[in-house]
Amino acid sequence: MHKITIAIDGYSSTGKSTLAKQIATELGYIYVDSGAMYRAVTLYALQNGFISENNFNANDFVMVLHEIELEFKFNPEIGFAEMYLNGENVEQAIRTMEVSSFVSTISAVPEVRYQLVKQQQKMGKDKGIVMDGRDIGTVVFPDAELKIFMTASPEVRAQRRYDELTKRGDKVNFNEVFKNVQERDYIDSHRADSPLVKADDAIEIDNSNLTLDEQFQKIMELVSMTLESYE
Ligand code: C5P
Repeated sequence: MHKITIAIDGYSSTGKSTLAKQIATELGYIYVDSGAMYRAVTLYALQNGFISENNFNANDFVMVLHEIELEFKFNPEIGFAEMYLNGENVEQAIRTMEVSSFVSTISAVPEVRYQLVKQQQKMGKDKGIVMDGRDIGTVVFPDAELKIFMTASPEVRAQRRYDELTKRGDKVNFNEVFKNVQERDYIDSHRADSPLVKADDAIEIDNSNLTLDEQFQKIMELVSMTLESYE
C-alpha cells in the first residue's frame, strides 16, 4: 500500500501527540514527537548553565549545539519511541514546567531549528510517518499528503495539560499552566523563523468539544480519503 506523510500541527496541548500516536498505531507508521526534540535541547541548555535567572545567551548556546545528540529509541513496553539526550532517557525530564517555560525561547533560535529540521526530514525520507509539531506541514514536510491543524479553546487546552501534569504527580497550579500555554502559543506564533501558522492546504480541526474517539474517527476518514486518492 502507498505510504504517505501525515503532518499534525497546532497550538500547545491540543492533543496532537495523542492523535498522532493513534493514527501511527492504526496504520503501522512511525510516530515522531518533534516537540520532544526541542524539549531535549532545552533540557540540555538548562542542565549546562545556558539559562540563568531568565537570561538566555543564544550566541553562546549555538556554539555547543554539536555536543547534543538526540535519539528516539523504541520502548516495546509502551509501544512507542522515547527521547534520549546524549544516551540518557529524558522522556520524563523534558515534560516538566521548567522545560515548558523555556522551550519556546530556545525553539525560536534559527540554528536550533535548522539542526532539528534536518534530523526530522531524514526520519521521514521513506514516508510512512506521522509527525506532530508546529512547523511540520509548513517547513519540515511541505509536501505531506495529509496536513492537520489542531485547535481548541485555551481553557480546554490548559485543563488537559494540568490534568496530564497532576496525573504524573507534578505539583502545579492551574493558573501557572494556563499562563504557560498562552505564552508558548504567543512566542511560537510570532517568532521570525518558522512561526506556527496553519499551512494553506491543512485541514483545521477544533477538538474543544470532541471526544478522543470522535476525533480519531474524523481523522481516520481523512486518512482513508487521502490514501484512496493515491491508489
Ligand atoms: O509539542 P510540545 O508542546 O511538546 O512542544 C514544545 C515546544 O517546542 C513548543 O511550544 C514549541 O516552542 C517547540 N516546537 C517547535 N516546533 C516544533 C515542535 C515543537 O518550535 N515542530
